Amino acid sequence: MQLKRRTLLSGLAASAAVPFMSAVQAKQADADTKWDKETDVLVIGYGGAGACAAIEAHDNGSKVLIIEKMAQPGGNTAISSGGFMVPQDGPTALKYLTATYDLANSEKDDELLNTFCKEIMGVKDWMTGLKEGTELWVYGHAGFQNLPGWEVIDKYRVRGKKRSGDCLFDLYRYAVEEKRNIPVMLETPAVQLIQKDGQVVGAVASNNGKNINIKVNKAVILTTGGYEFDPESLRTYAQGENYHALGNPGNTGDGLRMAQSMGARLWHMTAYSCPLGTELPGCKAALQVAMMAPSFIWVDKNGKRFADEFSPD
Ligand SMILES: Cc1cc2nc3c(=O)[nH]c(=O)nc-3n(C[C@H](O)[C@H](O)[C@H](O)COP(=O)(O)OP(=O)(O)OC[C@H]3O[C@@H](n4cnc5c(N)ncnc54)[C@H](O)[C@@H]3O)c2cc1C
Repeated sequence: MQLKRRTLLSGLAASAAVPFMSAVQAKQADADTKWDKETDVLVIGYGGAGACAAIEAHDNGSKVLIIEKMAQPGGNTAISSGGFMVPQDGPTALKYLTATYDLANSEKDDELLNTFCKEIMGVKDWMTGLKEGTELWVYGHAGFQNLPGWEVIDKYRVRGKKRSGDCLFDLYRYAVEEKRNIPVMLETPAVQLIQKDGQVVGAVASNNGKNINIKVNKAVILTTGGYEFDPESLRTYAQGENYHALGNPGNTGDGLRMAQSMGARLWHMTAYSCPLGTELPGCKAALQVAMMAPSFIWVDKNGKRFADEFSPD
């Protein structure tokens, strides 16, 4: 990542414009603070982003600890369809991704997008390097085939005998736990960041019904996923009632509130994917109803067809 410190700071400076959503405050460290654990890098949340961050921090010489709220790691990554985009060339992918932002009329950071399109070209080698014998396969192409540059977008999965999300997360898990022996504490949710003089110096986590203070020498990385199981965030950002979430019930926006407690600005909070689904009695997560073309048509209240269901627009 070649994001400059200046870019990050200008993001932080704009934080006053965003409503402070929750009462989570960073705890102040002082001379009396007792530390229960110490590490260089603390990764909070063990889904795909947390696993990748832990691998990179470890391989760059840091002592890493991962804490995960749930009894199982994987988050949405493990139950997802396990697909990831790798384009055939970076500059054309930049055109395509820029067009998707413009289509969505969405706030965009050109420097970040440039870096993303450069770095993404190394993803295939990075993934296959995680475990000997790893194979990737192309299962799809660009979602918006009416936008410039779509033809270079390929979507890959990790080949394997299980569900695609499991194949993806099993690979990460092997790379984290078996190959690198990075310690993982399950059922250990982070509840608060700890700061000193405006710098994050640790985090409070709950473990076995007790709060523990984890000291960090370098960084805390927040990879706690989305907010889909937090009713307050759904009301504020998705702006509706009675939404049912798909996925991991641990994703309640904790990292977003912790980031805000240090003055971070949020973006893209109203951008979400919202499929048709149904509530399952006795289950926290909803069941998605996938209607695969060409097996359906849209009709209005009079039963009249009103759209071209096959149009990419
Ligand atoms: C059904 C479904 C299918 C999908 N298919 C695809 C796909 O094919 N391709 C694609 O690109 N995207 C897909 N997505 C979206 C994709 O899964 C997510 O964008 C991605 O997995 C997010 O990764 P993450 O690591 O940020 O979050 P997650 O994988 O959700 O991990 C977050 C982790 O943080 C933990 N956590 C939360 N709070 C705390 C806390 N306070 N302390 C400690 N840990 C905490 C959570 O329990 C969780 O384990 C899909 C999503 C769903 C629900």
